[in-house]
Amino acid sequence: MPEILTLYIAFWIFITGLCIGSFLNVVILRGLSNESIVFPPSKCPKCQHKLKWWHNIPLLSYILLKGKCYFCHEKISPQYFIVELSTGILFTALFFKFGLSLNLLLMLIIFSLFIVMTVTDLKEKIIFDIHAFILAGFGILYNLLNHNLLNAALGILEGILIMEVIAAIGYLFVKSRAFGTGDTFIAGALGAIFGWAPLIIVLVLSLVVQALITLPLYIFKLYKEKNFKTIIALITFLLIAAIYKIISLKAGINVSILYAGVIAVVISGLYCVRQITRNIKSKSDAIILPFGPAMFISAAAFIFLN
Ligand SMILES: [Zn+2]
Repeated sequence: MPEILTLYIAFWIFITGLCIGSFLNVVILRGLSNESIVFPPSKCPKCQHKLKWWHNIPLLSYILLKGKCYFCHEKISPQYFIVELSTGILFTALFFKFGLSLNLLLMLIIFSLFIVMTVTDLKEKIIFDIHAFILAGFGILYNLLNHNLLNAALGILEGILIMEVIAAIGYLFVKSRAFGTGDTFIAGALGAIFGWAPLIIVLVLSLVVQALITLPLYIFKLYKEKNFKTIIALITFLLIAAIYKIISLKAGINVSILYAGVIAVVISGLYCVRQITRNIKSKSDAIILPFGPAMFISAAAFIFLN
């Protein structure tokens, strides 16, 4: 495709993304407030005033209204702006990744669902089953187009199994499910998209993403509770692991260092886990961030980097 034509199409895909993002905001809001997607017409959630047409232009309205309702001046959630802009950017990036193809169309739908589910999970810790099922449906189509039905079926099965096993293990510690069934459905849906082998990479990546987001918050929480023992255990473990990594890279394969390092990492790791699980006596003690967003971030990263 000539470069100028590509840019022209990319521009219109960006604009389309903004408009779809605007629609996704409605899906999110009406879903969480249990209203129909089509009716009633959009209104301010605070003063119930019906919005004028120019209050619904993606990005621009938010900027023109300075993030406030035209009628009652109540602050409008930045969610609208963020969702619209991210949808526009992701749609454009997907176009550059997949070109004009059936894969692109499926990916636009899949990413739209990623966005909706990320926001409902972040806002209310809710994953709607129906969203996960639709995601699985388009995941199967995508997998059919690129691999086969068996690959998708195995992926779904694997995603559900892995999450349910983790949930069962978590049950031993917190005496209730470590996470909702929504996360299991997401893992199953991702299995449909990726198939069984890449799914493992995506799930491991999700754990890393989750740890990177949770760790600073968790340490801050411990600090507020003056639980310095656990902080020290955590930092010791991370330091030992980091030092071990550096030494093993520099020293190459030196068997005695390798073993000593592994033992130190394992012991400090176990001590750390003991300290952390000691603090978790009830579910409210655990810092529970929704896991859905971490899975979607990893899935998106995998799609773009692959
Ligand atoms: Zn208002």
